[in-house]
Amino acid sequence: ERQRFQGKTAIVTGAGSGIGKAAAMKLASEGASVALFDLLDDRTQQAEQEINAKFPGAARSYDVDVADPKRVEDAVREAAEHFGRIDIVFANAGINGKLAPVEELSYEDWNKTLSINLSGTFLTVKHTVPYLKHQGGGSIIITSSVNGNDRFSGFGMSAYSTTKAGQEAFGKMIALELAKFKIRVNVICPGAISTNIDASTKVSKDLEEIVIPVKYPEGSQPLADGPGKPENVADLVAFLASDESIHITGARIVIDGAESLL
Ligand code: NAD
Repeated sequence: ERQRFQGKTAIVTGAGSGIGKAAAMKLASEGASVALFDLLDDRTQQAEQEINAKFPGAARSYDVDVADPKRVEDAVREAAEHFGRIDIVFANAGINGKLAPVEELSYEDWNKTLSINLSGTFLTVKHTVPYLKHQGGGSIIITSSVNGNDRFSGFGMSAYSTTKAGQEAFGKMIALELAKFKIRVNVICPGAISTNIDASTKVSKDLEEIVIPVKYPEGSQPLADGPGKPENVADLVAFLASDESIHITGARIVIDGAESLL
């Protein structure tokens, strides 16, 4: 089998579950070493074990809250020292957070969603870029959502959608800023994907009635007749991480089985 990522190292945030876990597995399957950044819980250690069972020594988990500036900085250094280099950065960790009508959304809940989804992306990029520059290039991939710019059907998601649109603007600006260093930056916008993200969702009582029915209705994706799979997204991440996308930067790629066209 062709090994697109032999000798390369990837940092994947939110790697304990869902899209991040599938992407880490995919990158490892093609030769990459993967640093799994997540709130260290049983799930993240299980992801590490599952990857290492198939690709011995490929994965190592790091207990990282992406919203903690010092911890992100330290963990990036620890991973770079352990693996010797960083080539691919998948800034993917995110939460749905509190879904509520705007006047009921507390400042605390608003800030929590912004600090993980948006500031977490900033911190992950900020602290990895010096390593990519030092090596003469690299690929950064950021997970936004169709909720950033394509689809606004999720009631109570003002904070979430704001972070996703913000991640896209951030991705474009740094794509421009980093192009001369041969660092590519692309944003992926998944539609509904079967993951554990619902566990990170807090829904206000008021919204329960309207949010639950519109959330991922059966057959909501014309192409798949249901939600997509994390592995579908992992294939896109691998493409953007690889040299096959060598001339693609500053792009946003929707991966939603036509959900946002409905
Ligand atoms: P998931 O809940 O299955 O996985 C997300 C992972 O991020 C979890 O392991 C969680 O522990 C981790 N995480 C949460 N807060 C963190 C923090 N502060 N620091 C470090 N790790 C943290 O969900 P997923 O669907 O795989 O989500 C991944 C990304 O995909 C998110 O950015 C999400 O917004 C985006 N997304 C998901 C969907 C979907 O339908 N599942 C659609 C569009 C976009």
